[in-house]
Amino acid sequence: MWYNNFMTIQLTTAVADLPRVGAALTKRLGKLGLFTVADLLGYYPFRYEDFSTITKIIDVKPDTHITIRGTVNLIANKRAYRRRMYLTECLLSDDTGSIKAIWFNQPFITKMVKQGDTVYLSGKAEFSSYGLQLTSPSYEKIKKEQTHTARIVPIYSLTENLTEKQIRYLIKLVLPLAKQIPEWLPKDFLKKFNLIDLATAIHEVHFPSDQTSLDTAIRRLKFNELFLVQLKVQSIRRGLAELTAPGIAFHEDETKQFVNSLPFQLTASQKATSWEILKAIQLERPMNRLLEGDVGSGKTVVAAIVMLNVVKNGFQAALMAPTEILAMQHYKTVNKLLQGTSITVSLLTRSMKKHKGVDTTQKKLLEHISNGNSQIIIGTHALIQEKVTFENLGLVVIDEQHRFGVDQRKTLKKKSTDIVPHLLSMTATPIPRSLALTLYGDLDLSIITQMPKNRKKVITKVVPPQKRDLAYKFIRDEIDKGRQVFVICPLIEESDKLGVKAATAEYEKLRKEIFPDLSVGLLHGKLKADDKDEAMSRFAEGKTNILVATAVVEVGIDVPNASVMMIEGAERFGLAQLHQFRGRVGRAEHQSYCFVFSDSDNDKMIQRLDALVTAKNGFELAERDLEFRGPGEVYGIRQSGFPELKIATLADLDLIKLTKKAAEEFLERDPLLESQPYIRKKMLSFAENTHLE
Ligand code: ADP
Ligand code: MG
Repeated sequence: MWYNNFMTIQLTTAVADLPRVGAALTKRLGKLGLFTVADLLGYYPFRYEDFSTITKIIDVKPDTHITIRGTVNLIANKRAYRRRMYLTECLLSDDTGSIKAIWFNQPFITKMVKQGDTVYLSGKAEFSSYGLQLTSPSYEKIKKEQTHTARIVPIYSLTENLTEKQIRYLIKLVLPLAKQIPEWLPKDFLKKFNLIDLATAIHEVHFPSDQTSLDTAIRRLKFNELFLVQLKVQSIRRGLAELTAPGIAFHEDETKQFVNSLPFQLTASQKATSWEILKAIQLERPMNRLLEGDVGSGKTVVAAIVMLNVVKNGFQAALMAPTEILAMQHYKTVNKLLQGTSITVSLLTRSMKKHKGVDTTQKKLLEHISNGNSQIIIGTHALIQEKVTFENLGLVVIDEQHRFGVDQRKTLKKKSTDIVPHLLSMTATPIPRSLALTLYGDLDLSIITQMPKNRKKVITKVVPPQKRDLAYKFIRDEIDKGRQVFVICPLIEESDKLGVKAATAEYEKLRKEIFPDLSVGLLHGKLKADDKDEAMSRFAEGKTNILVATAVVEVGIDVPNASVMMIEGAERFGLAQLHQFRGRVGRAEHQSYCFVFSDSDNDKMIQRLDALVTAKNGFELAERDLEFRGPGEVYGIRQSGFPELKIATLADLDLIKLTKKAAEEFLERDPLLESQPYIRKKMLSFAENTHLE
């Protein structure tokens, strides 16, 4: 019966309608985001096992991965002694000799593989007390074309209770439909950039005929993704160049006055980047700039200088932060920085509405924003609600940009009626300049390369469990000296998505057992906004000695008096994230410390944490993270806003350069892609989350 169904399978067919796919399997596939035949075809293997060479039994060497082809002389199940386990033993021979294979707890194999069958076995050969044997090899009878053995075998990421065999079976089943996937690149283009056609690429990426065709298939598929990214960023760039933004004249006197009022001297880097930005916004062309600088390099002041100039030109500036806590902190900082000026600053988050330093209602605040009473508006994504309209928005500053989606930024831009505001996004995510430039099209980039002079390097220590008490003693001494301490807790279980449980438990422990005489605060994402505000303010004002927090303090929080950052369960965080936490201390002249605790005694993990001790800055750390976890994790396909890269990575520099050139040529020929409606559609739907808009 399923045969009939099969005849009508199309790219849009639901996986549930495929033969041998029941409700349970459908659910598991759903977990991987696989709902249709097209999804299956687009689910690329994440690695391969090369079992394409057949080894003669006589040539089998221990500790090698091999494939043999032979006849089954004997196959039988037996119960292993003592252990409650099935053993399947098989004796296999070819014209050069014979070898034993064993499997554990898979008694059903004797139903599939019978004496006299000719089969392929692929797996690892090792010495056992019975001589050379294959342990738990993949097995497959000889067919016209093999799926699991005797070839380059695809390995897919799985989910619980899903096997490689199942997913390979499904993908192989629908593979003939790859032919129906339309080629969307013009023929001359394929030729020019030496690319194979899409259907072949899809076919070969799943079940490659050999290494060379696998390589060319991967190249084509990577090209697809990177080319679309490039098309997107470049068309945005072209579109933007045609729009008008307010020309912001440099107000030298006010700027000097402001800089002189600061309690510190700007670093040369802060001056240079401020000037770069001020020069760019003098033009009536929308600026699209990334301000990059390591944690604590002082990006906020740079933003303040720019906002000051925008306001002095009669325009509003908005500053968006990823969390309420951070928005509130920016509000306080900016208010303090601009104290000596007449500039009005407002705060708008879901739960906080302030204008000129006092609480107000949503209604009043929206009025202030739309009639221009508010000159600088600081907030969270609440700033981009439909209800908010600006009088004349001239600049949008986005802090820690990777937390914002493109759609959100778009909405914010549209709020301005006739002019497009300039855009400045600030990030501490270290993306090397060359990479950022190539990947983000011609995005303008300003980098703060220097740290303020008064900084001492944060002393970082990975603390073994037996030294925990010493660390507590050290903390007490620091608090006696007047300093303050952060304690960061990780998630302990999946259900506790915000780490609330771990933080609360730690808070109770520190408050009741370890430091009963000190004042301990608790901060996590589930607290009511007022309580968050209160916990943060009390800590910022020095009323609490220790703040126990979840990852909510990851970015941006600035309490210069804090000198110790203690991180529990550090193995659960990435290096970049740990570096961000560490950046919460060492923000003033006090020698600061970062104590890293780990529950893991895994060597690799300890090594990874050690990188935190030895790396000099965020950039170096990102490179180290690259070694440990691979490019996808570090420049975070997710983190830097490229969730659509499935097969290409930011490490594919050559291909990034090539696709950049290809996209330029393409748009040169046809800027609006009018002759390529399909590509246009694909590009628009593809890069919803690209860095620029
Ligand atoms: P980030 O770049 O991580 O956002 P911030 O803007 O929060 O850093 O600045 C970190 C701290 O350094 C703040 O307390 C700020 O007042 C201070 N700061 C900024 N610039 C300087 C400077 N040039 N000299 C001394 N301290 C500075
Ligand atoms: Mg910051």
